Amino acid sequence: MKASLQMKGNVARSVNPYGIRQEVLNEIDYVKAQGSYEGPKKVLIIGGSSSYGLSSRISSAFGAGADTIAVSFERGPKTETNIGTAGWYNNIFFREFAEEAGLIAKNFVGDAFSLAMKQQVIAYIQKEFGGKIDLLVYSLASGVRVDPMGKKWFSSLNPIGQDVTGENINLETEEIFEQTVHAATPEEVEGTVKVMGGEDWEWWVNLLKEAGVLADNFKTVLYSYIGPKMTHAFYHGGALGRAKDQTEESAVRINENIQDIAGKATIIVARAVTTKASVVIPILPKYLIALYKLEENHETPIMHIDRTYRTMLYGDQANYDEKGRMRPDSFELEPALQAKVEALFNEITAENFKTDIAAYDLFRTEFLNLNGFEVEGNTIDEFEFDDLLTLKP
Ligand code: NAD
Repeated sequence: MKASLQMKGNVARSVNPYGIRQEVLNEIDYVKAQGSYEGPKKVLIIGGSSSYGLSSRISSAFGAGADTIAVSFERGPKTETNIGTAGWYNNIFFREFAEEAGLIAKNFVGDAFSLAMKQQVIAYIQKEFGGKIDLLVYSLASGVRVDPMGKKWFSSLNPIGQDVTGENINLETEEIFEQTVHAATPEEVEGTVKVMGGEDWEWWVNLLKEAGVLADNFKTVLYSYIGPKMTHAFYHGGALGRAKDQTEESAVRINENIQDIAGKATIIVARAVTTKASVVIPILPKYLIALYKLEENHETPIMHIDRTYRTMLYGDQANYDEKGRMRPDSFELEPALQAKVEALFNEITAENFKTDIAAYDLFRTEFLNLNGFEVEGNTIDEFEFDDLLTLKP
């Protein structure tokens, strides 16, 4: 079968499995080329199958020599035309490369919000992972969560207080279109905080601590986003921003809970990057093509996370803000750069956005790479369905 790109709006409906394998390898090679660093050794990543979570896994494993466990929600191959999600293949190929390098790489596929998943992971840490972890990365992006009482919550990408109108990019039709995003209802804001806030992060830490599987000096991180003022109406000031604010309260409680083991919970405010989750945020894609065009330090998720880990989280160059959040996003938010980005954003139109005025091509390529298409170094776009069935998570 030939892997061919199918999309619906800004969501990819198909993947190229061996392109994904090459992309994972390219990211591993990137980390190896930076050299090794003294970092975590036993890592659990919630949401470890793509973008920021996968980058955290690759940097920990191939930069610091860590054994890793990833929990993710992905689908495997069902039929020749439904061969599963990119994250499914990221998990498999990461595990293969890590095992070749002599590292443990365990994948759990299922609902990270559930008690059953937490219990399974804890039992695995106790029986097969050496008994302790020293880093927990919480990198979930989800539209839905069933809470411990069985109630289903939905997250929203809507602004708060008023409707917002702006221009967005449709990657399927390759057009800019005007979009009005309606103000979230109070229920939608509440749901977003339930899904994308820190409640489940706290629960994970509580259970891991009770089970005695947290090492002394344990660290845990959660990725947040703030972004420049021009994006605040639909992100930082919106429902998702409210959820991210709430994670800061969770971090305070977690820090109290892990004080006795000299643990530390940190919110890392990460930069805007091209991911499955970010390309569906209203209006953000147009900001990204302006940002990418003008910044001198363009970073993909692996570049950003690897720098953050080796120089900040496990290095001595961390910068924190007044709320104690780690700020590797400082390059993105540099005021002179942002002034230029805002000016360019206003010059980008439906007619010119694909020209050299902006970085649409880079944005699109990064999006395709997430699904194994147009990956540098990949020569295989054919697969045998039966071969895919033999790949085990
Ligand atoms: P992503 O969509 O690429 O990855 C999300 C991960 O969550 C995947 O591994 C997916 O399988 C997993 N997941 C979703 N629901 C799950 C469930 N119920 N159980 C288990 N796993 C589940 O997202 P991303 O862009 O890498 O975002 C990760 C985090 O980083 C998010 O919290 C996001 O807000 C934050 N962040 C992203 C950006 C950005 O520009 N993309 C910037 C700053 C911060």
